[in-house]
Amino acid sequence: MLKNPLYVYGPEDRYVPAKLNAGDFLLQKIWEHKEKVSMINGATDEKLTYGEMAQEAMNLAVSLVKLGVRKGDVIAICSENRREFWSTVIGVICAGCVVTTINTSYTKDELKHVTGISKPKYVFCSPFSYKAQAKNFRTIEYIKKIIVFGEEKQKNTLSYNDLAIIGRGSNSMLKENVNIDDFDAIEVTGQDDVAMILYSSGTTGLPKGVMVTHLNVLTACSSTTEMPDILSLTITPWYHTMGLMSHLIGFVKGKTTIYLPKFEVQQYLQTVEKYRVSQLTVVPPVLIALCKTPSKHDVSSVMMVASGAAPLHKETADGVFKRFPNAQAVIQGYGMTECTLVVAINANPDKSASVGQVNSNTIVKIVHPETGKVLGPNQEGEICVKGAMIMKGYIGKKKQDDFDEEGFFKTGDIGYFDDDKYLYIVDRLKELIKWKAYQVAPAELEAVLLKHESVRDAGVVGMPHPSAGEVPLAFVVAQPDSKVTEAELQKFVAERLSNPKHLRGGVRFVEAIPKSLTGKILRKDLRKMLKSTKSKL
Ligand code: AMP
Repeated sequence: MLKNPLYVYGPEDRYVPAKLNAGDFLLQKIWEHKEKVSMINGATDEKLTYGEMAQEAMNLAVSLVKLGVRKGDVIAICSENRREFWSTVIGVICAGCVVTTINTSYTKDELKHVTGISKPKYVFCSPFSYKAQAKNFRTIEYIKKIIVFGEEKQKNTLSYNDLAIIGRGSNSMLKENVNIDDFDAIEVTGQDDVAMILYSSGTTGLPKGVMVTHLNVLTACSSTTEMPDILSLTITPWYHTMGLMSHLIGFVKGKTTIYLPKFEVQQYLQTVEKYRVSQLTVVPPVLIALCKTPSKHDVSSVMMVASGAAPLHKETADGVFKRFPNAQAVIQGYGMTECTLVVAINANPDKSASVGQVNSNTIVKIVHPETGKVLGPNQEGEICVKGAMIMKGYIGKKKQDDFDEEGFFKTGDIGYFDDDKYLYIVDRLKELIKWKAYQVAPAELEAVLLKHESVRDAGVVGMPHPSAGEVPLAFVVAQPDSKVTEAELQKFVAERLSNPKHLRGGVRFVEAIPKSLTGKILRKDLRKMLKSTKSKL
């Protein structure tokens, strides 16, 4: 049929294999690079080859089936970035199961919320997350077993080494390594079967379970674009789509990545110098910190910076060339969990304010938020996206709430195309706040604030912040005669929600929270109030 002239179509250059099985595909691709180093822990110099990664993934898949997991069972990973992470992701998918990745710093209630959505049967933990979360996991009824990475034995748990590494564990499930020629991933219906459940608050409300199918993963990983075979450094957490999917895509191409479990500027720059790193994969707040922190480390090896997950301001993008004298390109990606990573990508320095051109196998249209009319170039509206990388939907939510009648996903972001079909993001229609690229759902903070006996009503918004992007700020209507203070409410929230959700923007006491006739918080009005009431920042 004829293409719609108002829609913007990405190139159709991705051909997914006929067998729609992400586990099989990833395993075969990784095995092709088996002699090569895949990951290096920059803090310890520990290396992992693609061969080891694939071998452990196959062993793990067979062990899991022996343990009794069934197709469609959900298995969680709650770990900081470390070597066992990827063989677990791939092994779980090969076992026909669904992998769900959980933020290690979640509080008990946050954990309860996300596991209540995905209902994992097993959970893989690092020793660090085990110490922090084991007692919480043990209160969650769905979780039958905890499997711990590393050498340390923990009571009433299984050991990853026993399931995945022959000769490393003391109680191996398998006598010998699984041979790749004898191995097939469990059969799936790739168009429909879910490979991953990730979490995103979408346009409104609490975090929801994003269902990413095998087809979504395969399409994202089937890029035909050549990737330079250069050393890259990453610190983005792997539980988030940016860390998760960008690595899987890199594995297919056989890239070598250095990782650090957490971000600390001097250690990061020291790692760049030590390994002569060529590519930095970052979120904008990290880039700002790198550009603004003086250091004597030699960063002349850096040729490319890839940024995503939050707005990258032109000044920051331009600043990269000063900080890294040999940088040739800053690549900016615009995407989201619901779109299995990238919607648009930009490497054109002449358009550094843009998020770039539409990604392969993706169609984007700009729609008037109220009338639903499709808009032309240079007109701002809601960005709507369609293609094989768009999620199947949110767990337990009706599809028509988030997709239009043509099957376009309504992103909740406001943007426009210029005459050259470059996309620009100008605002967010959705409630989401991004603190240092972490998702913060205002509804989650409001629910906590309303639990405080002195709070009659509350509305939370993001206040622009020069280095963090945004910080959460609460407008609060206090109960009559209450003497509650800003500090008290900040502490109350900090005790109940993880670090990105703390009220760094402060609390402003007001007479009323602006609401629509149906009782919905009018966030646009709250944002106007940001300017008209006083800030302590
Ligand atoms: P997440 O699912 O956590 O990756 O969050 C996705 C949201 O982050 C998008 O819907 C945007 O609001 C925002 N976002 C991601 N990338 C960019 C970008 N390059 N520029 C502006 N906003 C972005």
